[in-house]
Amino acid sequence: MKRVLCTHCVGEIEVANKAMSIFCPHCKKRLILESYKVKTYKAVREFATCGDIVVERKGNVAAQVMAQNLLVKGRIKGSVQARDLIEIAKTGEVSGDIVAPRLIVKDGAMLRGFCRIEPIQPIAKTPPKPITAKTTKRAKSATSS
Ligand SMILES: [Zn+2]
Repeated sequence: MKRVLCTHCVGEIEVANKAMSIFCPHCKKRLILESYKVKTYKAVREFATCGDIVVERKGNVAAQVMAQNLLVKGRIKGSVQARDLIEIAKTGEVSGDIVAPRLIVKDGAMLRGFCRIEPIQPIAKTPPKPITAKTTKRAKSATSS
C-alpha cells in the first residue's frame, strides 16, 4: 500500500502498489496511478497522475501537468503541480507556473514562471457547510403529574 494525494481534490488515499486507476473516495472522480516517461511530443489539456512523471530529454509536454513527483529533463509548457517533488534537470525547461512542496532547479535549467513552494491546496475549495443546528434542544419540561 502507498499513500497518494488525489489530483482533483487533494484528498489523501491509500492505494495498492499495483493499482493502475481508482475512484477517489473523497470526490468520486477517476484517478490515474500509473507513472509515465515522456520521450516525445505530448499535447493534452491535462496530464494528471498520482504516480510520477519523467519528461525525458526529448520529451516535450504541452499540458497542465500534475503528478506525485515530476522530473523534467526535457520541456514542459503549461502550469505544473506536484504533490511532492519537482526537479528540473540541467537540460530541463519549464514555461509555466509551478506549485510543489519541494523544488529542485539544477544549474542550467530554465524556468519561466512563478513558483510557490508549499503543499498543494485543494483546487476547488468548497467552503465547509454551515452547521444547521436543527437539533432543537428544547428542555423537556418535566411532565410530572
Ligand atoms: Zn479526490
